[in-house]
Amino acid sequence: MDFSRVDMVLDGYYPQMERDLVGLLAIPSTLGAAEPYAPYGRAVADAIHYALGVAQSLGMEVEDLDGYCGRADMPGASEEQIGILAHVDVVPAVAAEWKYAPFAPALADGKIYGRGAMDDKGPLIAALYGAAALADCGVPLEKTVRFIIGGNEENGMDCVEYYLTKYAQPSCGFTPDASFPAIIGEKGIFVYSLSASWADDDSAPLKLLRAEAGTAPNVVPGRAEAEFACPDDLPLPELPGLVMERAAGRLIVRAEGRAGHASMPELCENALTLLLSGLRGLDFAPAGAKRYLTALADMACADPMHGAGFGVAGSDALSETTNVPSILRLADNAGSLTCDMRFQLKKCCDDYPPLLQALAAAHGMTFSEKERMEPLYFGEQDPVAGKLVEVYREMTGDLRDPLVIGGGTYAKKMKHFVAFGPEHPEMPNLAHQADECIESKYLLFLAKLYARAIYALAR
Ligand SMILES: [Zn+2]
Repeated sequence: MDFSRVDMVLDGYYPQMERDLVGLLAIPSTLGAAEPYAPYGRAVADAIHYALGVAQSLGMEVEDLDGYCGRADMPGASEEQIGILAHVDVVPAVAAEWKYAPFAPALADGKIYGRGAMDDKGPLIAALYGAAALADCGVPLEKTVRFIIGGNEENGMDCVEYYLTKYAQPSCGFTPDASFPAIIGEKGIFVYSLSASWADDDSAPLKLLRAEAGTAPNVVPGRAEAEFACPDDLPLPELPGLVMERAAGRLIVRAEGRAGHASMPELCENALTLLLSGLRGLDFAPAGAKRYLTALADMACADPMHGAGFGVAGSDALSETTNVPSILRLADNAGSLTCDMRFQLKKCCDDYPPLLQALAAAHGMTFSEKERMEPLYFGEQDPVAGKLVEVYREMTGDLRDPLVIGGGTYAKKMKHFVAFGPEHPEMPNLAHQADECIESKYLLFLAKLYARAIYALAR
């Protein structure tokens, strides 16, 4: 199939495509309070409505599913569907961290700035135009192309569950919400905690009052802190890499790292691990607290990223387990450490409780499970993933292997859906970051690439 006409049509569409994206980016569609027909808040419902308006202007038949999600159809010769599952909800943005206002899209240095530009409003608009260009050129499609526009990808994905109460799922499809060449596996997720309590005592002049790190299980903490009661004349050792502040009978010990997503700990520096490591150099009371934190330090520091100290490390040909200590809460002679583990494809959630139970028992701790999700694996032979990778390779000449990631995408929610783009493996990851943006050239490239992907699946 020769795509030169489709590409020309998309070149002509570009100004309109950019206008539509700018309009969608201007809607601050973060999760809000539920209203009638707006279960994720008014702005998310408005964003779904806006995206359906774009689809309708491109000749598609549209329906709003009560503010949970929308559908837009481009009919093929048969009723069998292929799906494109994208989302218009976005994560919040702290305006002070942005060069341009996150919800007042700016066009500058060849880029479109705005929260959602890459995740996932830009790819949605690109795919809508890609499908429309196929229709404009009269390219015959065997299958009906159905867009499913979700409103709750960032907060539980129950928009997909709602969709499935109304319609059967398409026979296959893609979600333009991760990275190229394609995601052929998603690691399993297992979140757990190790907690303990102890008797109060004054076995040392320095006494731990509290320790704290982390905001959410899936975020590597960028800051961690411990506070002690400390006689003003007590000599203290230096703790390399930690900040120590003394005043009025108190000592604060602080670690600074670099926060980030727990599925990519290699890009972060875990402040909690730094703190645990440093506290080994201090003698303090109560004895139980010292024992608990030293045991955690031994586990966390033995292998800061892959969990060997917790007994969970492992890898196979395609994936390696990561284990991130992400939340510590310690006060009133009790403490709890939460870890976010992303485990290798060949394991299942049930493999881990016995290991962690035994670890906890050996140290007088209590293990508890917080969250689990089984891994997903397509394999290189999967027909849908195979076609998509071929489309990417043909258009770009980039032959690198498809990826296995630690994050969870919509692909976990619908069978035979593969996460396909939009990030290029060599681009900095902009999703959820300040100054999220998409290059104009890249938006056009995505539209052309998604046109080819839709053709490959729907022909
Ligand atoms: Zn996304």
